[in-house]
Amino acid sequence: MRIERIEIYHVAMPLVYPFRTAYGDEYTIESVLVRMSGEGAYGWGEATPGRLPIYCNEWAAGVYALLRDHLAPRIVGQEVPSGEALQALLAAFKGNHFAKAALDLAWWDLDARQKGRPLWELLGGTGPTVDVGADFGVMDTVDELLKEIAKAKAAGFKRVKLKFRPGWDVDMVARVRAAFPDLPIHIDCNSAYRLESTAMFRKLDTYGLAMIEQPLAHDDLIDHATLQNEIDTPICLDESITSVDRARKAIEIGACGWINIKPGRVGGLTNAVAIHDLCQQGGIPCWVGGMLESAVGQGHNMALATLPNFRYPADVFPSDRFYAPDLAEPEIELSGPSRVTCPDAPGIGREPNSERLAKQTVQAATIDGC
Ligand SMILES: [Mg+2]
Repeated sequence: MRIERIEIYHVAMPLVYPFRTAYGDEYTIESVLVRMSGEGAYGWGEATPGRLPIYCNEWAAGVYALLRDHLAPRIVGQEVPSGEALQALLAAFKGNHFAKAALDLAWWDLDARQKGRPLWELLGGTGPTVDVGADFGVMDTVDELLKEIAKAKAAGFKRVKLKFRPGWDVDMVARVRAAFPDLPIHIDCNSAYRLESTAMFRKLDTYGLAMIEQPLAHDDLIDHATLQNEIDTPICLDESITSVDRARKAIEIGACGWINIKPGRVGGLTNAVAIHDLCQQGGIPCWVGGMLESAVGQGHNMALATLPNFRYPADVFPSDRFYAPDLAEPEIELSGPSRVTCPDAPGIGREPNSERLAKQTVQAATIDGC
């Protein structure tokens, strides 16, 4: 397929309330949306690395500039028959996974729309419905958190993820576990700790957590292998897994029992599927994470989550959990307790609302064949 035009939108999406993690508090999510067109069809992609280079070394304004000045011009005018071919065209550029992912996701949506098939089906999913979990950031008080978890449990959510950072740590987990003895719970440390905290992680073994997500440095594998040797609770790697090769190394050295796959962090769906397949062969179960994307990015995440080795509820959220309204439509809604269903429409079946896109755009560019 010949790519004729790429439109790039750097947007700022106001959150309904601040999202608080070990990285800090965010009031607005900055994201980059890409519309790729060719041969009479179009598709949408989204990269949501954050407003600042804090989750990783990319940030939305940087992703926008890189796409506009270097990556999109490499793709426009080219024949791109597959996700692998797209990745090959971008291979000269080191890193910058989120920026590459915006194009990769748009290519997959475009390809699926052109074929008239839902993306989940094209990726090899087992069915359109996926389990999703509830996720809670840091709150002012544990009492407030307990109330929110009770609501999520009553709504039928199958698992709860808790953000975990110094000052909102073992005591918080102890109180949650005491209140909800049987609920599947895991914590996400967002790389806030080092091996010096091994004793604290050993203590957490007593609370029966499903996993401990990214306890140590964002770029580490070796210390995670050391920690995994010292504790019973499985470690789940998120920030550390940025490529198929990093996933292979993590599995080889025993750095984790789970891998969280985010299409943005690994350069797109092409690599996300490859990591999924590698983990499946290596006996490591996966689940799909999220970066508070609009319904475009979440649409891609949902499609990915239909693959068979995603064995833990995904971080896909109803749109109104974070946005009122979502930049894109149709909004993400639960299709039953703790589950969402991919639409029976070509591609991701979602796209930005043009009025909201115009309102939330910070800067935009178009790269075409001229
Ligand atoms: Mg995480």
